[in-house]
Amino acid sequence: MTAAPMPASPQFAAACRILATLRAAGYEAWLAGGCVRDLLLGREPEDYDIATSARPDVVLDMFPRTFAVGAHFGVVLVASEPESASKESAPPQVATEVATFRSDGAYSDGRRPDEVRYTLSAEEDVQRRDFTINGLLLDPLHPETQLSSKSLRNAVVDHVGGLADLDAGIIRAIGRPERRFEEDHLRLLRAVRFAARFGFTLEPATRAAMRHLAHRIHAVSRERVRDELTKMLTEGHARHAFELLDEADLLVQVLPEVARMKGVEQPPQFHPEGDVWTHTLLLLGQLEPGCPLTLAWGALLHDVGKPATFRRAERIRFDGHVEVGMAIAADICRRFRFSNDETRQILALVEHHMRFMDAPRMKDSTLKRFFRLDRFDEHLALHKMDCLAASGNLDNWQYVRERLLAIPEEAVRPTPLLTGRDLIAAGYTPGPRFKEVLRAVEDAQLDGAVTTSEEALALARERFSSL
Ligand code: ATP
Ligand code: MG
Repeated sequence: MTAAPMPASPQFAAACRILATLRAAGYEAWLAGGCVRDLLLGREPEDYDIATSARPDVVLDMFPRTFAVGAHFGVVLVASEPESASKESAPPQVATEVATFRSDGAYSDGRRPDEVRYTLSAEEDVQRRDFTINGLLLDPLHPETQLSSKSLRNAVVDHVGGLADLDAGIIRAIGRPERRFEEDHLRLLRAVRFAARFGFTLEPATRAAMRHLAHRIHAVSRERVRDELTKMLTEGHARHAFELLDEADLLVQVLPEVARMKGVEQPPQFHPEGDVWTHTLLLLGQLEPGCPLTLAWGALLHDVGKPATFRRAERIRFDGHVEVGMAIAADICRRFRFSNDETRQILALVEHHMRFMDAPRMKDSTLKRFFRLDRFDEHLALHKMDCLAASGNLDNWQYVRERLLAIPEEAVRPTPLLTGRDLIAAGYTPGPRFKEVLRAVEDAQLDGAVTTSEEALALARERFSSL
């Protein structure tokens, strides 16, 4: 664990001021949860959460700009201006979550406590949190806090053994793992996400409970599951995350179509790396932090049609795996309630992933139409990962990239030499053949076979008469 000195961010400063105000009024207040974990790991926290003995109504009264965000759970958002902001322009506001110490009542829906009880005990508040590394409290006003990295630990209050687990790189449920996962099934996926993000391992009893209760994940809304999986895929540790999902028996629950990839052999001449699952993991290992979610899901699903189309002929074949894969991916997108736009792009990535093979033999018109695909950069990125996860031969990728750079945008989408209006003016009546002819003329334009409107119209006349 390498703890850095305290950050100088406006968020941190705002949290410290709120904390000081709460304490001056006689309440107990700490930095809590993810921000403490991140500070100890030497990472800049995204936001700072405060846990306090003050009740929500007190917090709402104590600060001028507040919002009761999670009223039911005692969470108040406190907005504050950065200290140094000039008075003239409207200063950017920093929002800090202030949560009243609480202990959660029974959980009957597998996601949310039926009721929460406020408490004066910070220790009780920590006990309701999910994992030991998320259960640490920090006093940022402690004199030692400002000093060197090591002394940051002296300002930490650890009721759950979180410091030792941070040092050892372990995700461990607070309390009895079975009970904690039974209360809130989303924690099953949170455990995987944190382990992947930090490169940690699942503590054996925690993992055993996860395996035992993995099937309960179906009680969690599909949107929540989707969001957790998307975070895993786009935080830069997707491979580790999916290995852990598998290890915890969660993969077969949330994505049985992906779990089916395991053990599906591939022809070694094209796939020296091994089976479809191994290949997919090698792709996931290349997903960068912050990558678009469509690219990430496209990478995960590009070969999802292979298990169902596996066939041994003169060699192992997966004829039709693209079409079958698109149908399966469409099912998954529907199940996880992806937006239409996201679904369209994920399916397009599956649909076109094999076309790069043909690129060097494509006519200009075909290649240019290929380049017109929405967010073509994602197609190109997926193809590169696909190659690097198999033979490593990047010739086709290189070829497409060079052509993409060489062909200017106005050549990919030129102003048409001929439009439907021109055809009407020339005496043709709109109908099904219209579109066909216009497309043929546009192809000729993209191929450079016609370069003027006159030539385009002549070609159209020729087409109409031959049809
Ligand atoms: P991230 O960096 O992903 O935001 P985080 O640890 O800050 O990680 P949050 O979801 O923001 O996670 O939650 C803040 C804190 O609240 C956690 O660190 C944990 O202490 C507690 N917490 C959040 N969700 C749960 C849960 N489902 N069960 C128990 N405790 C939780
Ligand atoms: Mg957080």
